[in-house]
Amino acid sequence: MVKKVVIVGGGIAGIYVLRNLLARREEIEEGLDLTLLKRERSGWVSTCGLPFALRGWYEIKRTEINEPKFFLDQGVDFRTETEVTKLDLEARTVKIADGEELAYDYLVIATGREPSVPEAVANTELEGISTFNNEDDARKIEAAMEGATNAFVRGRGIIGLQAAVAFATKGLNTTVLGGPPSLLPGSLDPDMGDIVKKWLEEKHGIRFILARKEITGVKGENGRVKSVVIGDGEEIPADVVVIARGMRPNVGLAVDAGIATGDSGGIVTDGAMHVRRGRGYLRDVFALGDCTEVIDGITYRPRLSQLASTVVVQSKVVADNIISDIKGQPALYSISVPCLSPTVAEIGGLIVGSVGVTGEAATRAGIKTLSGTATKLVKARYFPGAKPLTMKLLFDAYSHKLIGAQMVGESTVAERVNELQMAIRAGMTAEEIRNTERCYDPSLSLLIDVTIDATEKAMGITPVY
Ligand SMILES: Cc1cc2nc3c(=O)[nH]c(=O)nc-3n(C[C@H](O)[C@H](O)[C@H](O)COP(=O)(O)OP(=O)(O)OC[C@H]3O[C@@H](n4cnc5c(N)ncnc54)[C@H](O)[C@@H]3O)c2cc1C
Repeated sequence: MVKKVVIVGGGIAGIYVLRNLLARREEIEEGLDLTLLKRERSGWVSTCGLPFALRGWYEIKRTEINEPKFFLDQGVDFRTETEVTKLDLEARTVKIADGEELAYDYLVIATGREPSVPEAVANTELEGISTFNNEDDARKIEAAMEGATNAFVRGRGIIGLQAAVAFATKGLNTTVLGGPPSLLPGSLDPDMGDIVKKWLEEKHGIRFILARKEITGVKGENGRVKSVVIGDGEEIPADVVVIARGMRPNVGLAVDAGIATGDSGGIVTDGAMHVRRGRGYLRDVFALGDCTEVIDGITYRPRLSQLASTVVVQSKVVADNIISDIKGQPALYSISVPCLSPTVAEIGGLIVGSVGVTGEAATRAGIKTLSGTATKLVKARYFPGAKPLTMKLLFDAYSHKLIGAQMVGESTVAERVNELQMAIRAGMTAEEIRNTERCYDPSLSLLIDVTIDATEKAMGITPVY
């Protein structure tokens, strides 16, 4: 009998499960009947490319890598503009808004996240205010930017800052409101976050208000937003307002179906991405992506990851397990769960990277750390255009194992994040990292890299320059 897989959600998580299953469909003799249900009109969109579209690097349409037709032509029941209203795990059906019920053998929940919108904004009809979660939001923001003079962003994470850079690049007076003390608290400690803040203030003229303040009101004219009021009354002019704070897992459907969520608010899964219901994990129901919680690879505590890089690994685990279950093989548990959340982001010409825990997260988890920060050029100083990079490394104070890395610079960040992720996974100590050879060509690298300096500083050794 043909096995039916129903995927709820067509963000990166749902699409990558679908793509993995399409790639492996031939392995299943009896065949795979694939259905994907999503709210948006689009096919496969690169959400991560949207902030750059707002900056004017390309059109929003270009982020749609495949239109729905691409999947329909491959025999997928790919339904856009479709609202799922109920998951019935007993009857093994998914109900959609028009009342139709779709039966499944395997259900994949990939319902993503939703930003928490301050009450004062949630109840307004004014145009020009948007979340920044998908391509529909990007279109609304783009429309609001037309003829605008002032922009306001609520949120100091990557999405908020990338939106702010887009506004500043287009000449809008831009204000960002976020909590104290600094930027990107999920990735960077305040000393590193302050470098980003200074860069964005100096190079892009962005104004930051980092305080325990919330939007308390919005004012408009002719149906359009004109200003926001924050805290106890400061009014900030704004023709375009983006809410990019506190991305919460979208778990309503799962919770109504009795699926467990954890302390972080995300759906609980095991290492094979099976969901938990009651005391057990369900063999035929999977969840992944921003709606799930992960286990942190350093603290072993549950948290959210909400990164495409995490999603893409989870999607392979889900597809592998659907295929192996159909074949009657045992479940496969991923080594990437626990999760290190390698992160890289280009924010107005500065590249920010991180992996593992921050110093603050380590302290919260009761982990004592040794930390070292160094700033150095990424290639020989006599090469024109050699730019500095600041790196902070965190080692467990007892084992000396690397547990976290943060960096900001203008180049070479992404490859360093991946390198240091491997070092964390391999359990490398400060001593081992210090004594590992590194490739060298003065036009590309230094004989003694910033990684070595940061490591030596953490060890209390004076680096040799
Ligand atoms: C602007 C932006 C830039 C980003 N940049 C990066 C980056 O550079 N690098 C990185 O690693 N990560 C980045 N991220 C994060 C990354 O995009 C997310 O981790 C990833 O998109 C999560 O995918 P998802 O499918 O889990 O969730 P979502 O993208 O939220 O998708 C959820 C899907 O579920 C559907 N859905 C929900 N409820 C229902 C329902 N009841 N019925 C039908 N459908 C439903 C929605 O329609 C949607 O299709 C960025 C995110 C944003 C918003």
